[in-house]
Amino acid sequence: MELKFNTAAEARVRRDELARLIRYHSNLYYNGDAPVISDYEYDMMFEELKTIERTFPELDLPDSPTHRVGGAASEKFEKVRHAVPLGSLTDVFDEESLISFVDRAKEQLLEAGYPREEIKFTVEPKIDGLSVALTYEGGRLTLGATRGDGQVGENVTENVLRIPSIPRALPDKLDLTVRGEVYMPREKFEKMNEIKEAAGEKLWANPRNAAAGSLRRLHSAEDALRSLDIFVFNYQTGDLWEDGHAPTAHSETIARIGELGFPNIGIAALTGDGEEIVRAVRSIGERRDGLPYDIDGAVVKVDSLEMRRTLGEGTSTPKWAVAFKFPPEQKKTKIVDVEIQVGRTGVLTPTAVLEPVRLAGTTVSRATLHNIDIIRSKDIRIGDTVIVQKAGDIIPEVTASVPSERTGAERIFSFPDRCPSCGETLVRDDFDEEDGDGGEGGAVRCINPLCPAQRERRIIHFASRDAMNIEGMGPAVVRLLIEEGYVRDAADIYSLRAEQIASLPRMGDKSAQNLIDAIERSKTAGPARLLYAFGIRHTGESASEAVIAEFGGITRLFGKTAEEIARVRDLGEVTSAKIVEFFSLPETAVLVDRLRAQGVVTDLSEEEIARLEESKTAVGALTGSTFVLTGTLSTMTRDEASAKIAALGGKVTGSVSKKTSYVVAGEAPGSKLTKAEALGVPVLGETEFLKLIGE
Ligand code: NAD
Repeated sequence: MELKFNTAAEARVRRDELARLIRYHSNLYYNGDAPVISDYEYDMMFEELKTIERTFPELDLPDSPTHRVGGAASEKFEKVRHAVPLGSLTDVFDEESLISFVDRAKEQLLEAGYPREEIKFTVEPKIDGLSVALTYEGGRLTLGATRGDGQVGENVTENVLRIPSIPRALPDKLDLTVRGEVYMPREKFEKMNEIKEAAGEKLWANPRNAAAGSLRRLHSAEDALRSLDIFVFNYQTGDLWEDGHAPTAHSETIARIGELGFPNIGIAALTGDGEEIVRAVRSIGERRDGLPYDIDGAVVKVDSLEMRRTLGEGTSTPKWAVAFKFPPEQKKTKIVDVEIQVGRTGVLTPTAVLEPVRLAGTTVSRATLHNIDIIRSKDIRIGDTVIVQKAGDIIPEVTASVPSERTGAERIFSFPDRCPSCGETLVRDDFDEEDGDGGEGGAVRCINPLCPAQRERRIIHFASRDAMNIEGMGPAVVRLLIEEGYVRDAADIYSLRAEQIASLPRMGDKSAQNLIDAIERSKTAGPARLLYAFGIRHTGESASEAVIAEFGGITRLFGKTAEEIARVRDLGEVTSAKIVEFFSLPETAVLVDRLRAQGVVTDLSEEEIARLEESKTAVGALTGSTFVLTGTLSTMTRDEASAKIAALGGKVTGSVSKKTSYVVAGEAPGSKLTKAEALGVPVLGETEFLKLIGE
């Protein structure tokens, strides 16, 4: 990789930025099992950072993410120190670098006196899952541990025992530790996602996240764990034979691992010839698509265990192996049609309906086209052959059309004049970045507040996690409830009966009762969440919290003027105007009355208001500091934590910005933590937080 920096001073800024970005994305990937960029994009940043550190050694700091393996073990599980560390691998991205690895290793081994014909390498597929170590004592499985940071992992034995292909007992009474990659086959992944969708749960982004997310969860669903599988790819320590026979080669250990009943990785080639190695790697790449599971590369390793010791280990990767990473998958397919989706605020988003194509682990039949301007600038037509890829390996997108494959039958897509859902005329507005519902510019919007598509999206938003947090009420369930006529607006949710929910397809009595319980719990979500849940344009979580903190409740917002609302700190004119508009609609008064009648808390209590007033004037240890809370604290509820901060003069807001002083992260923190890390906002654990508030 070529750098465009001449001096270390120039490179330092980029180094800092890369280190920050890599930490941010690693946290999402390893700790949240929810990446937002593709592995390829991540790998390219990692390569750039390594190149900077190699070129300017003074910038290679001990705490650089390039010296780290994986992510830290979660507090949720008992921690285990690995007897033999679980390292990572050095990546290469082209055949030239692969050959230079092979040549260099050979050269060093020849220098060390090994005969040329004995120097051999294995080539194996690189399974895209997560690494675990399995320990057997007297032939019985006693420990399953994740990699964690390579030295300390998580004890996930309970979950590992539920993976069907992992033997609980070996045919021989061995004390043995092996290492393998736990993965979820593509078909199982799609099935699990279908189940999740029906239950209104968030879907897994890809099979790798599904595997990691299921294994690294305390009370993981039985069917998710039963969908997992493993390939064992390494002998770590202990005995492979009862007679104490000491293996001399990796290929020998892998064959024995198979005999012991483990699904083993399968060595595709065992050779000393560089060209044969390259051919084997290519052939794995060519077979990639037809495999029932995801692979993200091929691994080339020195076979002799003694030669491995001669070559030795780097800080986090061995010097005797290399991972050849495949580029992100792209596929050609055809656009059959373009559909329009109407969002919560009325923005119309065009979506390409594709001839289904297998791409990076899933069948893709839809892809976003963003907006009309992008369709025009890329000249994408209905019937076109197009290239699709997954941005962040998650949301498929059309990257380009292939005009040379046009037959003349293609049609230029034109936006409708009327809303496809309600038939109202549409308006085009060009500044819409803020409401996150359409995209930058080019937004076409339906302005009919009674539009059915918008209504559905509004209810989905109302129930969503950051709003009223009604677990189990995802898009699929909302759609069914609307279709059945049980729900027309947010207030109807609170008069739902268990029998109605249970009558929906794929909903049993138990899930119906769970949903009823979640609805009941949401009544006390509080006025700030409720205000956000209304989905007023430009009114996000922090604006909602600020408005409630100022006025004390939803019912107090009726009749307020834009000037009065605009007095709320940091609230823009546009937001104030939208809030006033919403509260001046007669249907809003009806909606709020109905919610109140159903027991939904719309206002702060007198006590809470008094506390707020007090905190506004209090000057305490935390005056001037702004806090954001995420995750669950073990010693107090979030409301209690907020009250304590307020009592010390601090302020609690709902979203992280550069102005946030601290993010307090409890158990299972959300995206706020990752955002804090990205912005460099200090993050406090529970213990540090207690210390800060003097407890
Ligand atoms: P790695 O994926 O480059 O390689 C090491 C891992 O490969 C081993 O730990 C092992 O678990 C696995 N593996 C599978 N088959 C194997 C085989 N036959 N032999 C040996 N090992 C085998 O490194 P990593 O440290 O696990 O993770 C880093 C990777 O994770 C990055 O390269 C990136 O692709 C991905 N990542 C992505 C994001 C993101 O935001 N998308 C963030 C962080 C990491």
